[in-house]
Amino acid sequence: MKKQYLGEIINHPLLGKILPVDFSPLKTCSFNCYYCSLGKTTNMTMQREDFYPVQDIIQEIDSYLTQNDYPDYLFLTGSGEPALYSKFGELARKIKERYPSIKLTAYSNASLLYDPEVRRDFYECDIMQFNLNSIIAEEFSRINQHHSQVKIGDVLDGLRKFKGEYTKPIWIHSIFGNKFNISEVNIKGLRKFIADFKPEKYIIRTFEKENDVEPLSDDTIKFIKSQMDSLNCECVYMGFD
Ligand code: SF4
Repeated sequence: MKKQYLGEIINHPLLGKILPVDFSPLKTCSFNCYYCSLGKTTNMTMQREDFYPVQDIIQEIDSYLTQNDYPDYLFLTGSGEPALYSKFGELARKIKERYPSIKLTAYSNASLLYDPEVRRDFYECDIMQFNLNSIIAEEFSRINQHHSQVKIGDVLDGLRKFKGEYTKPIWIHSIFGNKFNISEVNIKGLRKFIADFKPEKYIIRTFEKENDVEPLSDDTIKFIKSQMDSLNCECVYMGFD
């Protein structure tokens, strides 16, 4: 059977075997990040929508899991920002009821976290992952090229609110790109935010080679590490060799 909503199981370096679940048209996002592996955002929106019927997605998951080994995690990705699927919570709850042994995770840009309904929907996940590349408005805009309604202050407030409500692990990811978000003030600001926030993991990455941006200099890498190494949470560097 041809799959519409599921990817292939892949090995994730931190989560084990993950199976991506899609539920939005390519590419629906409130950001248009310079480095996005899904290409350019064609539907830039802050409006949550009922893109596909939950039942159709569940049917495909059922059919797949009767014929294949269970993954460690179902990764609720969507083709863009997962919070834009208005049925996210219902989908996650139904998956949990049917497959309590499979964990759920999602990776969000945090732009809709000001909405209590979005925060509640994300409670269903066993690990929530958020991206935060900058706490400085100018650098945040440069790297994330976001919807005009997105404000860095709202993103940070939303993250803090979610942290106060959610009882399971939160991972924060920062992706650093040369000339995008590597000012001293941003790196130090991120350090301060992360030190106060205390995520379970802080994952620090840099652009992929195919992004065609000059790699970070040794001095920048050294500076980022000198700031983040002393954080009171687990720091994971990826692509910093
Ligand atoms: S938030 Fe994620 S999906 Fe949206 S543009 Fe950025 S990297 Fe791509």
